[in-house]
Amino acid sequence: MKKTRNTRQRGVILGILRESHEHPTAEMIYREARRALPNISLGTVYRNLNFLRDQGTVREIRPSEGGSSRFDGADTPHAHFHCAHCSALLDIPLPPGLENLRFEEEKRISAVSLVDLHVIGSCCGCAEGATH
Ligand SMILES: [Zn+2]
Ligand SMILES: [Zn+2]
Repeated sequence: MKKTRNTRQRGVILGILRESHEHPTAEMIYREARRALPNISLGTVYRNLNFLRDQGTVREIRPSEGGSSRFDGADTPHAHFHCAHCSALLDIPLPPGLENLRFEEEKRISAVSLVDLHVIGSCCGCAEGATH
């Protein structure tokens, strides 16, 4: 019984992450999950997010300027653009060549499983605000 409930909770949380392109925080996921599961607790959301992250199903992104971790359920490789002035966190394509990064000359590395590239700058909204 408990196992079934856990699976259902995990499914709801993963569904929210797969649909969102906002890279929600755990609190945002919690608020969304409560619509489907009114009794779910924030602790349960955190536990499931940690499980999914350890499993490699979702990625935890720590914002460059600190603050709450953001979560990403996209299953295709991509890089992230962080706006240094607001909380915008955008998916950007990995520059060509980075997707199949190899270190043939590097004897200490045997395989690459993930390229985690973060680009920091200003989003259009913040750049416009600065010129007015
Ligand atoms: Zn911005
Ligand atoms: Zn992403």
